[in-house]
Amino acid sequence: MYVTTTIPYVNARPHLGHALELVQADVLARHHRRRGAPVRFQTGSDDNSLKNVLAAEAAGVPVRELVGRNAAAFEALRGPLGVSFDAFIRTSAHPAHRAGVERIWKETAHDLYQRHYEGLYCVGCEQFYQEGPCPDGHPGPLQTVSEQNWFFRLSRYQDALLGLIGSGRLRIEPAARRNEVLAFVAAGLSDISVSRSAARARGWGIPVPGDPGQVIYVWWDALANYVTALDEPGAYGRWWVREQDKVHIVGKGVIRFHAVHWPAMLLSAGRPLPTAIFVHDYITAAFPADGGPPRGGGGRR
Ligand SMILES: [Zn+2]
Repeated sequence: MYVTTTIPYVNARPHLGHALELVQADVLARHHRRRGAPVRFQTGSDDNSLKNVLAAEAAGVPVRELVGRNAAAFEALRGPLGVSFDAFIRTSAHPAHRAGVERIWKETAHDLYQRHYEGLYCVGCEQFYQEGPCPDGHPGPLQTVSEQNWFFRLSRYQDALLGLIGSGRLRIEPAARRNEVLAFVAAGLSDISVSRSAARARGWGIPVPGDPGQVIYVWWDALANYVTALDEPGAYGRWWVREQDKVHIVGKGVIRFHAVHWPAMLLSAGRPLPTAIFVHDYITAAFPADGGPPRGGGGRR
């Protein structure tokens, strides 16, 4: 089994939601190891987010320093949580990540095109919305963005995704989440913006191959970690091509990225797909050690 967690933004230190996801993935990994199955358990950090850049600006430290410090705090969860991950990928530091993202970009070039775009952007979600405020509760007005971006022909993959998810070849659990994804895809898929101006990204992130004025959308970059980190000799073939049990553990807030965008990217690139996506909810209250009243807790991002 190849099991992954999502890779969190490292604009701040870890919170309980991150622990939840790591422990869930760990349970699955340990279960399969004890049954004698070979397991690779991978986690990491999403370093290339604009959110990280803004947090570093607010703290008055270089971005590389802030993401390095926070990523180390995430990796150090291994000790106190007793989790058994085999690999931790940092997207700004892993030696194979950038080249791997560029390769996928080139493999999907037949589905990429440029278009002028105007929209309302939430930096907290790293996502465009039709109207504000942010439905996930990030404070402040959404940012109006008007620029020329690269778009991915997600619309082309609607029928393929319905077939894969509907047939269970791409399994989504629990069933309520599978139905949510099927309804979303069946309602029609629009093409998605997969780059932003390097100026808006503050020069942080992976430049678009052949178009250095644009940076690859952080979600595209982050999703690729599930394959780019398989860079040891033979690892990609072993864990992504031949492995029959490839599971992504994800929070409910990022289900569309994992169950719609990522499989479409892989189909476009001509690569194998994950076999299952297990979706968890959020922890909404935390009980402090001093026995005081529960505090509200956020989502995993
Ligand atoms: Zn938001």
